[in-house]
Amino acid sequence: TPTSTEVGMRAIRVMNNGGPKVLEEAEVDDPLPGVREVLVDVAACGVNFIDTYQRSGVYPVSLPFVPGSEGAGTVAEVGSEVTDFSPGDRIAWAMAPGSYAQRAVVPVDKAVRVPDAIDDNTAAAAPLQGMTAHYLVTSTYPVRTGDTALVHAAAGGMGLLLTQLVKARGGNVIGTVSTSEKEQLAREAGADEIIHYTEDDVANEIRDLTDGRGVDVAYDGVGRDTFDASLASLRPRGTLALFGAASGPVPPLDPQRLNSAGSVFLTRPSLGHHMLTRQELDWRAGEIFQAVSGGDLTIRVGGTYPLAEAARAHEDLEARRTTGKLLLVP
Ligand code: NDP
Repeated sequence: TPTSTEVGMRAIRVMNNGGPKVLEEAEVDDPLPGVREVLVDVAACGVNFIDTYQRSGVYPVSLPFVPGSEGAGTVAEVGSEVTDFSPGDRIAWAMAPGSYAQRAVVPVDKAVRVPDAIDDNTAAAAPLQGMTAHYLVTSTYPVRTGDTALVHAAAGGMGLLLTQLVKARGGNVIGTVSTSEKEQLAREAGADEIIHYTEDDVANEIRDLTDGRGVDVAYDGVGRDTFDASLASLRPRGTLALFGAASGPVPPLDPQRLNSAGSVFLTRPSLGHHMLTRQELDWRAGEIFQAVSGGDLTIRVGGTYPLAEAARAHEDLEARRTTGKLLLVP
């Protein structure tokens, strides 16, 4: 295993935007930590849908770049002004670019300590989707006992976490999935009802399942293909949390539609705005790690790929072939 003192490491490098094939493994220089950054030997990195948006160019990033914004590993070096972490510490991070690599530089304000009870793969799988699911159920729409939530792509990385967290807060979950295998996983995670959204009309099903009332909140990371149904599924003054665009971006919208839908609330939140302080980051990551180590939250790793096969991971994710979380191991 190379150490951080050697110069040169393997990383996935994107030279041009495009399909999964632009994710090529290359020898690149070791990154150098800035004053408030740490250099980490990466144990595993998480694959997230945002990585596909950056790869394809939907979210512009200056080229060339090393993709990946989440992982876990061991601190190898610390910048001159770092006091909160030391070499040898096990950390995990989210929203720090350059994670698809043997070594990554992580700003300290994106890093959290990993409890001993959490293994490396779980630590790498937890932070980005875990903290996102956390802010969606605690801050975007704080789920209360008896609430009903619509969770799209309920067997996906986000979907399985959202389902479990809504249930843990006493809510009911109506999930959507594309296959029976995915239905089974979503039900195992606690979903009360499942709609096969590629076959059935979601808004009609929701009216039937809620005695005509509609759901309190719709968590929608699918975007273009589900947005109208999400809006039509809300109760009066319900909340639509549009947190992603797995099927493509939602077209521009006339605010009057929010009135017609029942004076509803629409928000388009990002994790970056929900880990603004050390206290907030530690709160969200701490509750997720605590729930995992206490056995209250299961993080299902649905696929582990060698770093060199990052392209295959993206292909599988975009082709709806995956469930749960995907990891790359350098
Ligand atoms: P998932 O594991 O959920 O994979 C995406 C799933 O979406 C698929 O498995 C599929 O499930 C469903 N889907 C429906 N239509 C399509 C389509 N046309 N193409 C691909 N997938 C489709 O991915 P993640 O958990 O990584 O991310 C889910 C969403 O959450 C993404 O939009 C992502 O950007 C967003 N996100 C947002 C964050 C934020 O802070 N705003 C942070 C983290 C994630 P099925 O087969 O059942 O339809």
